[in-house]
Amino acid sequence: MPAHASKAWRQGWWKGAMHLPSPNFGPRPAGVVVDLAVLHSISLPPGVYGGDAIERLFTNRLDWDEHPYFLGIRGLEVSSHFLVRRDGAVQQFVSCDDRAWHAGRSAWQGRENCNDWSVGIELEGLEGDTFEPAQYKALMPLLRALCQHYPIAHLVGHEHIAPGRKIDPGPGFDWDRMRAQLRASSLALELPPHAAC
Ligand SMILES: [Zn+2]
Repeated sequence: MPAHASKAWRQGWWKGAMHLPSPNFGPRPAGVVVDLAVLHSISLPPGVYGGDAIERLFTNRLDWDEHPYFLGIRGLEVSSHFLVRRDGAVQQFVSCDDRAWHAGRSAWQGRENCNDWSVGIELEGLEGDTFEPAQYKALMPLLRALCQHYPIAHLVGHEHIAPGRKIDPGPGFDWDRMRAQLRASSLALELPPHAAC
């Protein structure tokens, strides 16, 4: 492992993120190769940006009675490794050495249970809405650090690994822009074949 990579990570926690440990995780299966990064979008309530409802959801501190929308997700125990806020700030909730609960029933290229072998990255946003330049910018150091420390080879959306069930990050996410950014950074990540349509 390169020296700079070991300095950037400590037991699966990236030093470029604010750490907000979630209890919602488990061990990855032994011998699994973590080669997938999954992009999501989330906002709580949907379409409302800012505030701390997402981090409270991921750390099981959300007051379900606080908003009518929260009643519909009462008791939900989920997490993601990372959350990229609208201003580009990055938060981390689960060590990338562990299995976060972001993908649910899923498969990519014939491999099921993507949570076992992926890193989950939530973008604060909403399916159909666009994302902020600061978020695209913030993804690059995160993806670069991930690629230096894990054998990440694919970057997909939740919609691609759970088609028909999930639609995030959605049509507002600019995969062409992502592809151009990756190319400019010489990051060799494979994107979904139809993602640029
Ligand atoms: Zn998702």
